[in-house]
Amino acid sequence: MAFLSIVLPAYNEEENIMNTAAVLSKTLEENGIEYELVFISDGSRDRTFERIRDAAADNPRIRGAEFSRNFGKEAAIFAGLEMAKGNAVIVMDCDLQHPPQVIPEMWKLWQEGAEVVEGIKQSRGQESLAHRLSAGMFYKIMSMLIKMDMNASSDFKLLDRKVVDVLLSLPERNTFFRALSFWVGFRTETVTYEVQERRYGKSKWSFFSLMKYAVTNATSFSTLPLQMVTAMGLVAILFSVILFFDTLIRFLSGAAVEGFTTVILLILIIGGFLMLGLGIVGHYLARIYEEVKGRPKYIIRQTTEEETIKCDIKKEKR
Ligand code: UDP
Ligand code: MG
Repeated sequence: MAFLSIVLPAYNEEENIMNTAAVLSKTLEENGIEYELVFISDGSRDRTFERIRDAAADNPRIRGAEFSRNFGKEAAIFAGLEMAKGNAVIVMDCDLQHPPQVIPEMWKLWQEGAEVVEGIKQSRGQESLAHRLSAGMFYKIMSMLIKMDMNASSDFKLLDRKVVDVLLSLPERNTFFRALSFWVGFRTETVTYEVQERRYGKSKWSFFSLMKYAVTNATSFSTLPLQMVTAMGLVAILFSVILFFDTLIRFLSGAAVEGFTTVILLILIIGGFLMLGLGIVGHYLARIYEEVKGRPKYIIRQTTEEETIKCDIKKEKR
């Protein structure tokens, strides 16, 4: 019989695990959906993994693993996809901000033949102004670079086994789960949901972590910033041609520009553009460097089933 895996990345979520496990099992059992819950503790520094183990002891359908350190939500999602055995897999936050009531709807669409079911945010829920602004900026930049509307999209989605296998076979290390599910294509349906309030604990994203996430994802998903360097160069060349003739004519007519002001300004402007360009190229270099090193996306310290050290190196077939 077809069954559903739910992947839940968790970073310092000790207060949430038991409640989330209970709410999800109840929802799924009431709807007669066969399921398993896969919790990934992303190097939590609190007792998240102990709670996962408690939950697993109560309910054999609950499994989990813990990373050796914090590898980030992307890595946790991919570790969960790797562990999940279901015919369909749902990825959702373990703070219940993604409402469990939507799951039966997603499951139904899957049974009717959808291969990807995207969760689309109706509202962003209650968030602080600073968080809304930084998240807003983040989505603006991302949407522009990826050329897909990312504002309403989220990591809350259902993927068919086929799609999960495709995602797991991608060789890249820097993944952006949210956009990759668009990129792979497949028959896609959407469901909308209201973002709920976080029950316990607080959001794990700071302004800087969001910005870092934006830059990493933008450079791993789009080459537009690189082309912007070229565009900047073209503009600079255009200006320099105009200035070249201007300066030459003034010099020949005996009225050369006096003072250092122009020189200083030019050096500053050109210097700024050069550094910016180098910085952008540097980001891509960093991405390539990370990919070439070929380190695993994550390292698992222990799972609820066994206490061994595993990582995803086994997929090495490049
Ligand atoms: N998360 C994670 N690793 C991290 C940061 C967050 O696994 O480094 C998890 C977190 O436990 C939660 C989900 O990602 O289940 C979303 O995080 P959060 O609720 O803090 O983000 P927000 O809902 O505020 O966007
Ligand atoms: Mg949240």
